[in-house]
Amino acid sequence: MAVHLALCAIPFIEFSWWYVVWVIVLTRITGLGITVGFHRYLTHRSFKAPRWVQFLLAVAGCTALQKGPLWWVAHHRLHHKHSDTEHDPHSPVVGGFVHGHMGWLFTQDLMEPDAQIVRDLTKYPELVWLERLWMVPGILMAAACFALGGWGGLIYGYCLSTVLVFQVTFAVNSIGHLWGSQRFDTGEGSRNNVLLGYLAMGDGWHNNHHRAQHSAKHGFAWYELDMSFAFIKLLALFGMAWGIKMPPAHLLPGATASAPDAPPVEEAEPGAVVADHSA
Ligand SMILES: [Zn+2]
Ligand SMILES: [Zn+2]
Repeated sequence: MAVHLALCAIPFIEFSWWYVVWVIVLTRITGLGITVGFHRYLTHRSFKAPRWVQFLLAVAGCTALQKGPLWWVAHHRLHHKHSDTEHDPHSPVVGGFVHGHMGWLFTQDLMEPDAQIVRDLTKYPELVWLERLWMVPGILMAAACFALGGWGGLIYGYCLSTVLVFQVTFAVNSIGHLWGSQRFDTGEGSRNNVLLGYLAMGDGWHNNHHRAQHSAKHGFAWYELDMSFAFIKLLALFGMAWGIKMPPAHLLPGATASAPDAPPVEEAEPGAVVADHSA
């Protein structure tokens, strides 16, 4: 919340177009830390990666100041398990828009994530430590921004970027379950929202994601830009990702009913222990 308040300093800082560049770069780093690191990799195991890449993705996710990897993953897995029911931590369908967006952060005892639902992650001591020290990567990045760009670097570069990523992530929980189209009847409110699709680097194709939650690719149609998936492909190019899970072919637009299901999407229970992916 403090980073939101820090934006009050913006009128006192002389604007420079360089700050726009800062925001674009920083929102990519913190944003991909959330969409690829916390979401597609740690929560859904949609691809495999070396243990050091897993750690770096988790560190990048922490820079977004949305708490630690275990906390984030635990609540997101609960969201998928109980989507838009009273057990969903942040359903706008059940609790209204304000609750689904940020209100849920204040209404529940959210400090201790359920260890069972993240048992595949707690076996890595570095992730458990990162969970305790989740603010450190963000503080270090903020300090680096201040060292490089003074107050402008800190406020525009780090604080504004963090707030933008924060709001877009939480808009996927709220707007992404209320407004947009539903390509698939998933039995809950998830939507493909065009604006969020682009702003959230692919995570806004949320109805697609709920239909095939273990798929690394969220944008199913050619016009559903998915920068996070492009980044995963980039990681794969450098040998830092493999075993990338794709949506079943019959779910893709234009597929016929007889289209083959290969490669299949694993439909494991959230939190299920998966094969050791560390190399
Ligand atoms: Zn959802
Ligand atoms: Zn998800």
